[in-house]
Amino acid sequence: MTSKTLSLTEKIYTYFQAKSLREPAILRELREETAKLSNAQMQISPEQGQLMGLLIELINARKTLEVGVFTGYSALAVALALPEDGKIVACDLNEEWTAIAKKFWQSANVAHKIDLRIAPALETLDGLIANGEQASFDFAFIDADKQNYLNYYERCLTLLRRGGLLAIDNVLWYGDVADTSIQNPSTVAIRTVNDFVHQDERVTMSMLPIGDGVTLARKR
Ligand code: CA
Repeated sequence: MTSKTLSLTEKIYTYFQAKSLREPAILRELREETAKLSNAQMQISPEQGQLMGLLIELINARKTLEVGVFTGYSALAVALALPEDGKIVACDLNEEWTAIAKKFWQSANVAHKIDLRIAPALETLDGLIANGEQASFDFAFIDADKQNYLNYYERCLTLLRRGGLLAIDNVLWYGDVADTSIQNPSTVAIRTVNDFVHQDERVTMSMLPIGDGVTLARKR
């Protein structure tokens, strides 16, 4: 069946990773360190990090946003793909997780590209808008508290330039979005943003079944 996205068995997934991943040692080490944490599942998959690096190269991104850093894997994947003068404004609240992130960013010699803001992300994003930085970012990645996803989406869309790219993580939410019996606030919030982006004429979009589901949306 080629008219449908393949379901990945463990065997196919192993092959897929073996023939796709070019994960640098520093990213692999960060993944291994993060795996020791109880909420390690919050980290993106390595194939998703690699895709984000490719997207950064494709659009020649220099100035990017990240909403939700955790232990810094996605920011590191993006930072490694950015040019030497590239920048990430990275938003998070958690000092403990971002301390791990900072350690690895320094080891990878990309710490100078990452401007970590420890504050509620909406405050940081609104501050950037108040500072006149709307339409100046090339790329944004949203991967934070799901109940604010729609708020993050609107702010990021304002901050992106025309042709800029937004990536929204966890849009399949372990499959829960497709199960209408599940009505917890995070699942409902993700369904809402999925419905919204799907009909939003301001973007060209595609939902990818990679990792936990990623929606790409290009600002028109
Ligand atoms: Ca995520």
